[in-house]
Amino acid sequence: MADKQLRGVAALQDPAVNKSTAFSPAEREAMGLRGLLPAAVSTQDLQVQRALENLRRKDTDIGRYVFLSSLSGRNERLFYRLVMDHLEEILPLIYTPTVGQACKEFAHIYRGARGFYVTPQDRGEMRHILDNWPHQDIRVVVVTDGERILGLGDLGANGMGIPVGKAALYTACGGIDPRHCLPVMFDTGTNNAELLDDPLYLGARHPRIRGDDYLALMDEFVDAVRDAWPAAIIQFEDFVTPNAYALLHRYQERVTCFNDDIQGTAATALAGILAASRIAELDLRELRVMFLGAGAAATGIADLMVNALVAAGVDSGTAHSHVWLVDRKGLVTANSPELAEYKKPFAHDHPPLDFLGAIREIRPNVLIGATGQPGTFNEEAVRLMASVNDRPIIFALSNPTSRSECTAEQAYQWTGGRAVFASGSPFAPVDYQGRILHPGQGNNAYVFPGIGLGALVSAASAIDQNMFLIAAQTLASQVSEAELEDGSAYPRIVRIRDVSAAIATRVAEYAYESGLAGNERPDDIEHAVRSSMYDPHY
Ligand code: NAD
Repeated sequence: MADKQLRGVAALQDPAVNKSTAFSPAEREAMGLRGLLPAAVSTQDLQVQRALENLRRKDTDIGRYVFLSSLSGRNERLFYRLVMDHLEEILPLIYTPTVGQACKEFAHIYRGARGFYVTPQDRGEMRHILDNWPHQDIRVVVVTDGERILGLGDLGANGMGIPVGKAALYTACGGIDPRHCLPVMFDTGTNNAELLDDPLYLGARHPRIRGDDYLALMDEFVDAVRDAWPAAIIQFEDFVTPNAYALLHRYQERVTCFNDDIQGTAATALAGILAASRIAELDLRELRVMFLGAGAAATGIADLMVNALVAAGVDSGTAHSHVWLVDRKGLVTANSPELAEYKKPFAHDHPPLDFLGAIREIRPNVLIGATGQPGTFNEEAVRLMASVNDRPIIFALSNPTSRSECTAEQAYQWTGGRAVFASGSPFAPVDYQGRILHPGQGNNAYVFPGIGLGALVSAASAIDQNMFLIAAQTLASQVSEAELEDGSAYPRIVRIRDVSAAIATRVAEYAYESGLAGNERPDDIEHAVRSSMYDPHY
């Protein structure tokens, strides 16, 4: 039984306490539940079976999303059992790609509040309203302002689906108790005219606040979180790139925080590159990597790639020269106009080239798409990659699936089955001329839950760049020989909890070694990690 001593209908209405038909006769007697439930006493296994039947009865993914969301609001442990026992089927329903649709339709499928909302009206009162949250032992805060939701743009307060989904992944993949996770919508308005005109829209109905007002509000929020829950990690999620970098630089020195789109993506993609280079039998130190798209995701990966090369013994200048960015205007060069700071380290002295010209001339081994624009890896580009590589490594990372730069099938077709392909959202295995090829999924869920868990177990005072490098190396080391042989640069998603535990163990070890840890080193770190993981069984 859960810790709260609730009785009767109150027990059935509390998702952390409710076991519904699994309450035993003795519990029904003691908790005043007699008469409130049908006679049969189910096991949790039977409840999982029933929930799965109901889930599969729905005709659409959005219907399944709503069903799962309601289940988590009714019986949290059953929800997590269902997710954890059927990860491959359910992760795409609670996160990308379905969460993209859920965010678009948020105001229309809304059933009840989940997570915490902050608006400009709360200025001056932020600390005090945090006390309204029912659970006060918060360890992870996932916050978005909804301005760059996946590759879907400004969805305002509809973006709440993202932190809610990420919090669920912390629990399902990283074993962090749901009561320790807080999803937050930092609702500072929206510039999406369609939403502002929609009578059902639920967010603050005004244009986005900007500049000093925005930063002052975020300062107040961050300070309030630090005051309420000093040990909590803050994860920034789906901010537009200039804000993503500005907020990271503003807080990373004094707050235990990270930006998942920059740093989590970087570790996830780097892990894929490390594993793919094993498949392609290429030496990491000699890889040439090209990005299409030069936003937060691409430049975050590029920075971590440089760290990995330097760790492998390459000097920093040479490491930078292995990485190239191409954006909407073509190759990013030292002469590109109005270069953002985060692109400058990769803006090399080179004559201007368009995307195809850049592949032809630079001959990258790895091509990574982070544009948010579907179809940008067209047949010509992919065939060019195949003409300059035996095993072209092609990652189409844009989410959701509808935004992927190319499909898995296209990547295999256009390279004669030679591509090592991965995507941001899942693609099914492809039958290519009788061979079953397994696209990898470069899902950040492989990385951030393990980093969070490792940081929490070691009470780390910061989440630094080395932790992301360690996470990438650990994730890559978890890809089995069989998976590599199938052409997959990532472990199967069903192993994600073991992957998280491995990452958490290595991150915590590093925290103890580097002086970042805030508690005493346990004798067996892996045991400390595993025994801290949430178990939804009853
Ligand atoms: P962003 O808006 O910061 O960057 C997009 C970049 O793409 C910009 O530099 C833009 O100029 C460029 N671009 C747009 N259209 C282009 C085109 N036709 N040709 C060349 N460049 C083009 O966004 P971001 O945060 O970097 O995210 C980009 C995408 O990556 C999103 O779809 C997001 O869902 C995805 N993403 C995936 C993962 C993952 O798979 N693990 C993680 C994070 C982000």
